[in-house]
Amino acid sequence: MQKSDDIQNLIKALSKIQGFGNRSAIRATINLISNREEKIAPLIEALNNVYNNIKTCPICGNFDTVVPCSICQDEKRNSKIICVVSDISSLWAMERGNIFDGKYHITGGILSAINGIEPDDLNLASLKNRVINENVEEVILALPATIDAKITSHYIINLLKDTNVKITELAHGVPLGGELDYLDEGTIGEAIKQRKLI
Ligand SMILES: [Zn+2]
Repeated sequence: MQKSDDIQNLIKALSKIQGFGNRSAIRATINLISNREEKIAPLIEALNNVYNNIKTCPICGNFDTVVPCSICQDEKRNSKIICVVSDISSLWAMERGNIFDGKYHITGGILSAINGIEPDDLNLASLKNRVINENVEEVILALPATIDAKITSHYIINLLKDTNVKITELAHGVPLGGELDYLDEGTIGEAIKQRKLI
């Protein structure tokens, strides 16, 4: 049986979402079409709102409806400490449970020789500018515990070397290859509290 173009297009669009293979896309498509009112209508509305209202913060890289994002704008937060994370899901993980009251910087990935990701592909130069212009006193590296992330950390340490900023990294508790997103608040909180000077 040939699926209609409309169905085929939806499967194709869904299969482009990270973590969705073709089979998940087919399953989701059937589930959506079978529950049209209950699932498709709110999905259209949510997608529309996100498409129209969400912007990327030019300072830290977070997603928000306001620019700069509400974290960067929050004067109650300590702007002398910047926590460097690789992606937005890590930032959101740190934000769960109000563990950290500084600001963030999202690198937008980690360096990878295999995937051809070089320093210019990441938001690293802007980190140095922030450290200098905002008189930042401490940079906390909260990158995943992978070899590529270690290489990225070394690159950042080298990049910030002449700024004299204090650089720390999360303490043990972040599992090897594990990402912040998978950790509970208690583990993240301990990893921040016991962070080590580099
Ligand atoms: Zn921001």
